[in-house]
This record gives sequence, C-alpha cells and structure tokens, in this order.
Amino acid sequence: MEVLTNATIADRTHEILTQLGVHASAYTGGSLPVTTPITGEVIARIAVTTHPAKTIAAAHKSFLKWRTVPAPKRGELIRILGEELRSHRDTLGHLVTIEAGKILSEGLGEVQEMIDICTFAAGLSRQLAGLTLPSERPSHRMMETWHPLGPVGIISAFNFPVAVWSWNAALALVCGNSVVWKPSEKTPLTALATQAIFERAAARFASTHGDIPADLSTLLIGGASVGQQLVDSPLVPLVSATGSTPMGRSVGPRLASRFARAILELGGNNAGIVCPTADLDLTLRAIAFSAMGTAGQRCTTLRRLIVHDSIYDKLISQLKKVYASVAIGDPREPGTLIGPLIDKRSYTAMQHALTDSVASGATITGGERLQHPEAPEAFYVRPALVEISSQTDPQPEVVKRETFAPILYVLKYRDLDEAIALHNGVAQGLSSSIFTMDLREAERFLSATGSDCGIANVNIGTSGAEIGGAFGGEKETGGGRESGSDAWKAYMRRATNTINYGTDLPLAQGVSFDI
Ligand code: NAD
Repeated sequence: MEVLTNATIADRTHEILTQLGVHASAYTGGSLPVTTPITGEVIARIAVTTHPAKTIAAAHKSFLKWRTVPAPKRGELIRILGEELRSHRDTLGHLVTIEAGKILSEGLGEVQEMIDICTFAAGLSRQLAGLTLPSERPSHRMMETWHPLGPVGIISAFNFPVAVWSWNAALALVCGNSVVWKPSEKTPLTALATQAIFERAAARFASTHGDIPADLSTLLIGGASVGQQLVDSPLVPLVSATGSTPMGRSVGPRLASRFARAILELGGNNAGIVCPTADLDLTLRAIAFSAMGTAGQRCTTLRRLIVHDSIYDKLISQLKKVYASVAIGDPREPGTLIGPLIDKRSYTAMQHALTDSVASGATITGGERLQHPEAPEAFYVRPALVEISSQTDPQPEVVKRETFAPILYVLKYRDLDEAIALHNGVAQGLSSSIFTMDLREAERFLSATGSDCGIANVNIGTSGAEIGGAFGGEKETGGGRESGSDAWKAYMRRATNTINYGTDLPLAQGVSFDI
C-alpha cells in the first residue's frame, strides 16, 4: 500500500479552497480541527457557529422574499448553480477526496451528482404541478396548489459531504424555500467550498435577474449540539437529516414533538441475493463495487450476501481472490480502488464487529489494518469477507447491525423464501439486489412479498443510485425520500382549493342548511 505523504496536502487544500473562493480566515485559527483521512493530519481549523439562531432567523427572512419569486425564475438560479459546479467539478471533487478519503473518480462522481440534480431541479421548477379534480358540486372547480414551506434544515453525514446538500437544496430552493445546512463536523471544508460556489451563482443570478434575498443558503458549522438547535427551531418546518440511525432516533422525536416534518435518511444493512442462474462474472463485479467501494462507507454499501448453496463455493473462491488483490491506498493515486476509513473510531468499530463475528463462529478473510510508517494516524484496511457458519444462528446479531466499514457477511440459502426471509430479517431497509436470470425470481423479489427496502435492484449492486429516482429506505432507515421522482412534494405544502363560479351554494355530501 502506498500513501503519498508529503507536506503539501494542507497546502494543496488551501490552494483549492482559495480557487473555489473561500477566504483563508474561514479555515485558519478556528476551534474545530479538520483532518484528512489520507494521512490523518490536521489540514485546517475552522470556526464553529456560535449563534445558530441568528443564522436561522436570517434564513427565515430570506424565505419570506424568495417565496414570491416565480418558480421558473428560482429554477434559473439552480441552472446557474449547475453551471458553476460544472466549471469547478475537478477542484471540488479533489477536495471531496482529500476531506472524505474517496477515490478521485468517486469524488468527481459526487460533484457530477450535484450537477445532475441541478439539471433535474431546473426542469422541475416549471413542473411543480397540482391536480385539478372533479368536484361533486355543479359550477365548482376543485384543484390543489403547492406552496413554499419555509427554511429547510439540512443535516448531512461525512460520507457524502456535498451531494446530500445538493439533493435537498436544489429541490428546496426551486420549491421556494431557503436552506440552512449543518454539514458533518468531519467534512466542513467541502461545505465551505460549496457555500462559496452557491454565493457565486447567487451573484450571477442577481446581475442578470435583479435582486436575490441574502442568506438564501447558509451554513451552521459544528457537531450534534449545533444540529439540535436547527432541529428545535420553530422557524424550521422541515429538517432533512442524513446520518446514523441513533442520530435519527434523537432527531425524529424532537421534530415530531413540535409537529415539524422530517426526511430521515439513516443507516442501511443492504443485502444481495445470488441465485443459481446468476451471471457470475457480472455479479462478481457488482459485488466488488458495492461491498468494497468507498471503503464500505456508503449508506447503500452491500453488507450481506445471501448465496445459493449450489454456487456458493465457486463464487466465494473468486471473491476471495478479488478481496486479496484489490488496490488499497492513497485515494488520489489513479490505480487505487479503496481509500482510507474516515477515522480511528470507524476502524475500532470494524475490529469490534470482526471480533464479534469470530465469537459467533464465522470465518474471516481480510480485515487487517495496512499501516504506513509515514501516516500512523491514517486507517487503511483490507476489506473483510466474513463467512457465517450455517451451523450457528443463520444471521447473528453482528450481521444485523450496520458497521460502517468494508465488511461483507456471506450467508447460504437453499430456497428463495428462505433467502427473502434472511434478506428482510434486519431492522434497516435501504437498498437491495437480486442476481438472477430467472424472471420469476426477479419479479418475486420486486413484488410485495419480496424485498422490503426503498431500493430494490436486479442484476446491479446495492450502491450507486441515480438522481432521477426517489432515494430513501424503510424501517430504521427512516422512511424519507429525497432527490428525484416526486420527492419535491416533501419540500412544499399542499392546499386544496375549491372555487364556486355559480350562483347557488350547494353543500358537499348533499347536506342542506337553509337559512
Ligand atoms: P452521524 O449520525 O454520526 O452524523 C450525521 C450528522 O448528524 C452529522 O452532521 C452530525 O453532526 C449530526 N448529528 C448527530 N447527532 C445529532 C443530533 N442528536 N441532533 C442533530 N444532529 C446530529 O453519521 P456519520 O457517521 O456522519 O455518517 C454515517 C451514517 O450515515 C451511516 O449510518 C450511514 O448509513 C448514514 N447515511 C445514510 C444515508 C442515507 O441516505 N440513508 C446517506 C449517507 C449516510
């Protein structure tokens, strides 16, 4: 394993931040140290927001103006934002790699996702359509209209440091809302950079389309306590929170207690079923990306593989070869496929899970730390393949919990009912896959008696969703949906309007009330 340690990683970060328009005062001398997982070194120190309430109040003021701007014009802002992101794709993608440790092509892919959602949302700004419905009363028309909601709170996780903001912000802004973003305290630099790009887009919009309210998109920097202030603010009618299930357990009830809306995008424990007719070459490639990509740190990472008895030995021996040879190292290096874990805490959680697996009778291949003498604070690991013994519990507790690291648990099955029961037998419900050439098996998996997840795929892996579909999961994944399809409806309030254009006043349900 190679890590390109050199004194310039912090310098390079500062250079990128300057290029993206972030002033040095924003990332030097603050109380929050920011590290790069590539070497574990501190690359910046940024200031924590001390008065979140002020920022939220400013966002509310901004909303009151922005909601009066016609939606297609709001879409124009997002179109310009997409253009700005396009021209800074490489630089911002590089910063994602430095701050989150993703390989470069995934860093760039994350910014591409931001660009794609801007394109989607710009088009959407002319399609925020309500229905016209038949009224039961003569000379009456009934319709529904969609209105802006208010400032939208966005809380995001470290592993998609910028894309999650864009999925929410692009929709929220065309829907007429302002946004207040609390990024992960582990990845605030990409947030500062994104904010600078947004401000440039807003200035361009103002120069051609007239005024734009200040504080349309704002940042709150800090940890959980800062996030809680956003969650508890009566000025924020919707919070979209992405992170672990324990985070959602805290945020969900707090929002419910003040009748605010929640979009919860929480942990996953995603599984793939490999059937006897599967195209094994394709399946192997899909498993490799889903299970090992992003060092197992995607909410959609493949964590459980449920393999038919008849092909188990063949598939697993091939998988072991891939696990043994995959290139691990500096994510900036072109050949690298697996970068570092985000921090020591992640590494410790991975080791606990592997210890628990051994205790439950499992056999482990890989999982060891790969240390580099020049980067003692970085945590690189070989992905682990954990074969669960069918003699013991078919799905022990360790398999049922999400460990945010590259561990793939492998289970055996004999018939599809058993496989689906294992598949659905966990608390999370985000993404799922089946690998089969048998139409009946594929359709069963997608049916009401198949996968219970928000995302169910055939012959592709669990990770790497497109922005065009609604994204989210069931059960302890939180039930939220964001990004494409009709996810925009969560960012608006719906009014049902009935108009009487006649001279009588007939009452619904034939009620009479003559005075
Ligand atoms: P985390 O839960 O530690 O933190 C996520 C965010 O929530 C951070 O910004 C954090 O400061 C904030 N936060 C934590 N506790 C809070 C509280 N009580 N009130 C308000 N804010 C709070 O998660 P992480 O380690 O950054 O990310 C990994 C987790 O996120 C995994 O479980 C992963 O599956 C999940 N995730 C889910 C999705 C999805 O779309 N379902 C996407 C990405 C990540």
